[in-house]
Amino acid sequence: MKDSVKESKHSAGIHDAGTRAGISGIPAFNDNYLWLVRQGTLAAVVDPGDAAPVMAALQQQRVQLRAILLTHHHKDHVGGVLELVERTGATVFGPASEKLPHCDRRLSQGDRVTLPELDLDLEVLDVPGHTAGHIAYAGRAGGVEPLVFCGDTLFASGCGRLFEGTPRQMHESLAKLAALPDETRVYCAHEYTLSNLAWARAVEPDNAALREWHEQAGQMRDRDQPTVPTTLGLERQVNPFLRTAHPQVAAAAAAHAGKPLADEVEVFAALREWKNHFR
Ligand code: ZN
Ligand code: FE
Repeated sequence: MKDSVKESKHSAGIHDAGTRAGISGIPAFNDNYLWLVRQGTLAAVVDPGDAAPVMAALQQQRVQLRAILLTHHHKDHVGGVLELVERTGATVFGPASEKLPHCDRRLSQGDRVTLPELDLDLEVLDVPGHTAGHIAYAGRAGGVEPLVFCGDTLFASGCGRLFEGTPRQMHESLAKLAALPDETRVYCAHEYTLSNLAWARAVEPDNAALREWHEQAGQMRDRDQPTVPTTLGLERQVNPFLRTAHPQVAAAAAAHAGKPLADEVEVFAALREWKNHFR
């Protein structure tokens, strides 16, 4: 537990300006992270919702943008694409079935993005639920392996809202992500961790790993540090949406829903509903 927390801080990569490979989170809007992958003098960016902070980071790090990876069509993830393409000529990769401002390579489950000059090798996973065509990218980038860029599907101790998908789809998408190795760094697109953790504590008040991580995440935010990436090993211990098989999580979901829940999909649906209204 302690190790994964320490590692996630280290791999945030914001403070690795001395090295030539890494991943840094460019803060944007209220709580988005635009992930900048750097290798030598080249870079890729994941979900650039805004072009200006990306252009500033490219200039500051003296790197050229070669690739843009998109997970889904929401404005806070694609808003900067046209301007970045215009100004850098970067190649855009994105989900096969979503409406995007621009896309050069349409991707779906089983496709690979391999860019040797960026030391980037990623496998595409279909993860519908938040949006109908949402994809994730799992593998290696910026010297970090294994990692996953999961957009708005899996968050630290949370998951995306179901705008275009069913609880069953989202539950299956999360299970697909949860099947990645424990050490996988989870690069989600938003800093929602503390509010997710407040809710997770209500679901599992007796989970000691969750209590400990909540305290550490609070300290990190007090120091203005990002809490992401986390790791899948940690998420499996502290994220209720990945713990629908645990009797205590299922019991809490049923108690909150006020009715018996037949299977993990119903537990997931009840948890999602609970989180939607939790303040
Ligand atoms: Zn979204
Ligand atoms: Fe988003």
